[in-house]
Amino acid sequence: MQIPFLELKSAYRALKSEIDEAVHRVLDSGWYILGEEVSDFENAFAEYCGASHCVGVGNGLDALRLALMAMGIGPGDEVIVPSNTYIATWLAVTQCGATVVPVEPCESTHTIDPSRLRSAITSRTRAILPVHLYGHPADMDRILAVANDHGIKVLEDGAQAHGARYKGERLGAHGDAVAWSFFPGKNLGAMGDAGAVTTNDAGLAERIRLLGNYGSREKYVNAIAGFNSRLDPIQAAILKVKLKHLDKWNEHRRELAKRYREAFFDHGLIVPSEAEWAESVWHLFVVRTSLRGRLQEHLADAGIGTLIHYPIPPHLQAAYAGLGFSGGTFPIAEKLAREVLSLPLFPNLALSQQDIVIAEVFRFLNDLGD
Ligand SMILES: *Cc1c(COP(=O)(O)O)cnc(C)c1O
Repeated sequence: MQIPFLELKSAYRALKSEIDEAVHRVLDSGWYILGEEVSDFENAFAEYCGASHCVGVGNGLDALRLALMAMGIGPGDEVIVPSNTYIATWLAVTQCGATVVPVEPCESTHTIDPSRLRSAITSRTRAILPVHLYGHPADMDRILAVANDHGIKVLEDGAQAHGARYKGERLGAHGDAVAWSFFPGKNLGAMGDAGAVTTNDAGLAERIRLLGNYGSREKYVNAIAGFNSRLDPIQAAILKVKLKHLDKWNEHRRELAKRYREAFFDHGLIVPSEAEWAESVWHLFVVRTSLRGRLQEHLADAGIGTLIHYPIPPHLQAAYAGLGFSGGTFPIAEKLAREVLSLPLFPNLALSQQDIVIAEVFRFLNDLGD
């Protein structure tokens, strides 16, 4: 029996009639850029997040990049980022011409360590960019306290955490803005590229909207030199269908995570924990072991798909060789990159399939003991 790491086709099959109806509605409308489908989804997602505004954009990287630009961040500015994240978080900063200042994570939550922020701040720091990595919220109150003391912005990378809660409240408007990705494999995924920014700041929302639509409020009148990064109405229509199912899917993810954690507790693997102030939506279930390579191979031989998020931290990527960071600069991020392994966890993973994954992990751990 094959158990994939992630499987998206069955989610489509389960919602096929609703999704097909939404897509055909857009095709039949003859309206293919922006319009009501996009604003309907923006309103629904803003309300879901408890934010006053949502601006759809082309993808998650653009959501981050346009939000930073709308905050006025550019060359000469520094932005604090996690040392362990998907490279998009860093790319958004460097594509604005600003400088990344990496800060190490807490090992227990994999999110940026608030106690390390103050020493990373300089006179050039303009923003902190925490990532709600693997679906677990970063410690927002402690991050916001540092930001407020220094009069700097907070942009959250929510690409992996749709629906997650911090101290009981859904992510969406804790910091100045949250950037979202709807890449197909995310907790709320489109069927192509899509992204959005949520915020309570009307001015910021307006600037992001302008930047993503050629700097134009009025057709052929360009207020600023903008970009083309708009949420596609077909994707918006699909996302509006899927948003209604997000809580149910996240609930199943939480159940799967609970079962994994209970099964593996105290058996030699480091299992992810959930801070008492957090409700994670378990975008990924990431275990840690120094025998990561052997565990991955064992599971592959048993037909079980796993992935590594992420094998190379941004500071050691060839893309950032020019920044001059050498191995050993961010030891926590580097250790995590050597030890993490993501097990199958997605809304259509059956408990019976998960039981097979659990049994195979135990087979591996028991073989070690022999
Ligand atoms: C997926 C992801 C992004 C980028 O989103 P795209 O839609 O692929 O551009 C940014 N940050 C994090 C943490 C992500 O996981």
